[in-house]
Amino acid sequence: MTHNDSSLAALLKEHFGFEQFRPLQKEIIRSVLEGKETFALLPTGGGKSLCYQLPALTDEGLTLVISPLIALMKDQVDGLNAAGIPATFLNSSLSRPEAAERMRGLWGGAYKLLYVAPERLMMPDFLSNLDQWNVNRFAVDEAHCISEWGHDFRPEYRKLGALRERFPKAQFLALTATATSRVRDDIIKGLHFSEPQTFVGSFNRPNLSYSVRPRQDGDGLALALTRRHRGESGIVYCFSRAATENLARFLKDNGVSSKPYHAGLSDEERRQTQDDFIKDNVDVICATVAFGMGIDKPNVRFVMHYHLPRNIEGYYQETGRAGRDGLPSECVLLFSASDEIKYRRLWKDKASEQERKVAIDQLLAMSHFAESTDCRRAGLLNYFDEHFDEIPCGGCDNCLSPRAKMDGTVIAQKLMSCVFRVREHSGFSVGLRHLIEVLTGANTEKIRQWGHQALSTYGIGKEYSRDAWMDFGRELMRKGLLSQDADQYNTIQMTERGNQFLKEKETIALTEPPVKSGAAIARTLAAGDEYDHALFETIRGLRKQLADEQGVPAYTIFSDVALRQMAAYYPVDLQSFSKISGVGRVKLDSYGPSFVETIKTFLDVNPRQNYNHPQTDSKPVRERDASRPGETVFKTVRMFNDGLDLHSIAQTREIGMQTVEQHLAKAVIADLELRDHAWFTQEEADTMEKAFTELGDDRLAPIRESLNESVTYLQLQIYRAMRRKTSK
Ligand code: ADP
Ligand code: ZN
Repeated sequence: MTHNDSSLAALLKEHFGFEQFRPLQKEIIRSVLEGKETFALLPTGGGKSLCYQLPALTDEGLTLVISPLIALMKDQVDGLNAAGIPATFLNSSLSRPEAAERMRGLWGGAYKLLYVAPERLMMPDFLSNLDQWNVNRFAVDEAHCISEWGHDFRPEYRKLGALRERFPKAQFLALTATATSRVRDDIIKGLHFSEPQTFVGSFNRPNLSYSVRPRQDGDGLALALTRRHRGESGIVYCFSRAATENLARFLKDNGVSSKPYHAGLSDEERRQTQDDFIKDNVDVICATVAFGMGIDKPNVRFVMHYHLPRNIEGYYQETGRAGRDGLPSECVLLFSASDEIKYRRLWKDKASEQERKVAIDQLLAMSHFAESTDCRRAGLLNYFDEHFDEIPCGGCDNCLSPRAKMDGTVIAQKLMSCVFRVREHSGFSVGLRHLIEVLTGANTEKIRQWGHQALSTYGIGKEYSRDAWMDFGRELMRKGLLSQDADQYNTIQMTERGNQFLKEKETIALTEPPVKSGAAIARTLAAGDEYDHALFETIRGLRKQLADEQGVPAYTIFSDVALRQMAAYYPVDLQSFSKISGVGRVKLDSYGPSFVETIKTFLDVNPRQNYNHPQTDSKPVRERDASRPGETVFKTVRMFNDGLDLHSIAQTREIGMQTVEQHLAKAVIADLELRDHAWFTQEEADTMEKAFTELGDDRLAPIRESLNESVTYLQLQIYRAMRRKTSK
């Protein structure tokens, strides 16, 4: 069967609800449909799964997906089933009867996709079953697991090559997000590929923004970041178990829903935490690097590194867990030079000399990245040998607020002669901190003890703060004029290059100390949220409710992209709802009516905002007469007046909690008879009144924000309704 562009596009919309292919998806799918050996390298979030899911729908046989992570199989299959695609998985998490049921389905040809782990696949019985199940395609996901050079080597993957001979007619497809060429070669060899069609996407993640902040008051920075993303998912990576525990507690004490995750917890605790994160029961996970491998959550809105990652590969991979759904997401790294020293100490006598050297080189590359004043995106991509020159990139701190350069000649001379004088006077070298204390004329015990207040360089650097001097010192090290001796208590030495600089009276440019506050950068980076936040909250609640009823993660119902579109275009009939990203045929039927109903009811009570999204093609929605409640509102009101609580009403009527709330708000506006109910305390009413007086009552989102989100949208809606009524 041949497929042209428009028939592929139609399949994409019908089954997955998407309007457009992501880069290279179509090319990869074509190659797969033509039966060629195919090798796809796309970054995380590039949409690799679709490259075998869509072809599976077009032909007769079964697509076998080999995947290393049991936890991910279930999520993927849940997602496919929600879209009406017949898929299943077999693994050790299933009970006997469950497994038997699925086997029956497989014998009966009921599925288009089957997910298995390689251990099961290679069992002899299983292989002979496959002969009968008409497997026409093997998709090897996370194919880098085949390589010992990869970050996630799985010995069982080694055996997959043998499948080629066992199933000569089947087609093979390998997918990975690993960028290094060594791993790529291993995959091609390991799967016995001869001349695969290879597709390499750019590893740039345009929707991720990168910034680095000095780690002063790290807890405060973490709290500010999580507050800015209230109600959204994020991960904070920390160096140690204790740090994850402390930070999670601190955030929790400050009202942020968060939990720690590290290897010291029991399997059960870890599983539970992961599940809570996936199901949106917990927003922020403070984790060691152990967290994230088994997680495919598309709507992680920020990743913070509280401590320095040990290398750039790790940093890229961990930040890569943000924003798989393509929405703007933030990656914030907190930098302190002390982290570098901590690692050096940790590695001091542990690894072999060679290993230690490699590790330290990688660490230095990482801290250079952190301290660099050049485009972060370019820095990352260059590290993976990808050229990037769209600078300024528009999404990193250095491009958004470039740090100015200044003549640093005198600064360098002062610092370097201080190194020289100390050594001359005392006969030993000292660390950067002590040098800076001498330069800034501090009166410390060591200075007195060593007589350093008598040096000619004592107090000659008072025009800059100590933090600024630290930055200068480190920049001079990066530039090779000074060096730090890891084995000698990190003391500072003059290099060959440094001596030459002084002797030849050279000049040098250094980066000006920072002045701009971090919050300003963060605000620029957080752009791109043009939608009705009140409606978003409402339909997000509906999504969570539906997801919990079905025991699946919320994102398998609709992505955040879909929700934001709904909250910007207000689709109030199924026709316009079908235009939303992620709404295919099956989801339109199963979820369309409840979302449309919720949005309609929302609009009865709230004014419609206007957002100029260029890509919208949904028609403007007719403003409804907000003063006339319909029969559905009356039904809710009757039940409410009969004494039912909101939850029971939602359950009995099979509508969302949010819809019930909206109905009641509408009843208040329309002045219907309602039984007494304490919608808010006097104190809450007072604060709302103050905010409405100050900010006007057109839009609720800014009001709620000004009240630090201490009241709900429902409370605001009802209060506004009552207020408008009395002022009429
Ligand atoms: P990867 O495995 O490459 O990290 P996924 O296959 O998990 O990426 O896809 C990431 C997200 O992008 C998923 O939420 C998926 O539904 C979505 N997605 C994939 N293809 C498209 C597309 N063509 N248009 C919109 N969203 C897409
Ligand atoms: Zn940049």
